[in-house]
Amino acid sequence: MSLLIVTSGEFALHQTPPGHAECPERGDTMQAVADLWRERGAVVVEPAPATAGQLGRVHTAEHLAAMAATAGRAVMLDPDTFTSPRTWEIARLAAGAAVAGVDAVLDGRATTAAALVRPPGHHAEPARAMGFCLLNNVAVAAAHALERGVPRVAIVDFDVHHGNGTQEAFKADPRVLFVSTHQWPYYPGSGAADDAGVGDGEGFTVNVPIEAGATDADYDEVFRGLLMPLVAQFDPGIVLVSAGYDAHDLDPLGGMCMTAAGYANLMRQLTAAAAQCAGRRVVMVTEGGYHLPSLAASLNASLAVMAGEPAAGREDRPPAAGGSRERGVAAAARARRIQSRYWRGL
Ligand SMILES: [Zn+2]
Repeated sequence: MSLLIVTSGEFALHQTPPGHAECPERGDTMQAVADLWRERGAVVVEPAPATAGQLGRVHTAEHLAAMAATAGRAVMLDPDTFTSPRTWEIARLAAGAAVAGVDAVLDGRATTAAALVRPPGHHAEPARAMGFCLLNNVAVAAAHALERGVPRVAIVDFDVHHGNGTQEAFKADPRVLFVSTHQWPYYPGSGAADDAGVGDGEGFTVNVPIEAGATDADYDEVFRGLLMPLVAQFDPGIVLVSAGYDAHDLDPLGGMCMTAAGYANLMRQLTAAAAQCAGRRVVMVTEGGYHLPSLAASLNASLAVMAGEPAAGREDRPPAAGGSRERGVAAAARARRIQSRYWRGL
């Protein structure tokens, strides 16, 4: 099997206040998923903490110093975002897991890698913690891939929330294509369709806001009809996935109607796109996903596709074939109007 999983039992030790959606039990769910895949033949490894040099490619020295100053303490960083005594250490471990996933696929030790981590990362901006996130795990991984000589990196973020931190990190960088689908209007409020990057990075940020209530078929429409052709045209050397599962129908935060089979469909399209241009190299980094049984089911469905299991391609067909596509068609049309300035034949 060509799937490598990077995770740690330590991820359950980042404490949030009682009742917080980003709860320690999410770490236990990730461990159970990793145990299952270890039995099925995947390689499961422990990460090392990201180094100051790796973090400094994305985050400012002031931000890193402020986060380091929370070590050993419980601090409220914003109304949603909290540290516990060990959080600084565990946040660096999460970023390190994403880096380890990139190293594994670039070194040829695996074709696909999954970093099952918490705290999540995509809301963390270069200079601030936000939305449960202290360090931007996927952005640190992307910067690491660039540093290792990958000329172009694609990041696809299907979390129900906009990946504002990742966008902020790379909005002016044409080497990183940032693609985000997200519920709209919704937290954090950024990610309008006409927000397409700045300066040299104009045209390399692709936002697809989608009305609440979107189904597997709506997401299929957006991915198949718009995003995968666009990613293929960008021709990345690696595809990173900000894999948030809070667009699941049962998720307590999101207002979307995705299923585990729908997530398998998205992952199948991502691996197919990577096979065309990125030497099949896909690294998934977890973000949100707050209904634990749905998180487990969606992770397992995604990992089955990444592991190349024959059954994984079939289960997506019913949702992809049926159901309403109106929200997806409308969202893709809005984004296409903007992005056709930069990309051919969308
Ligand atoms: Zn989210």
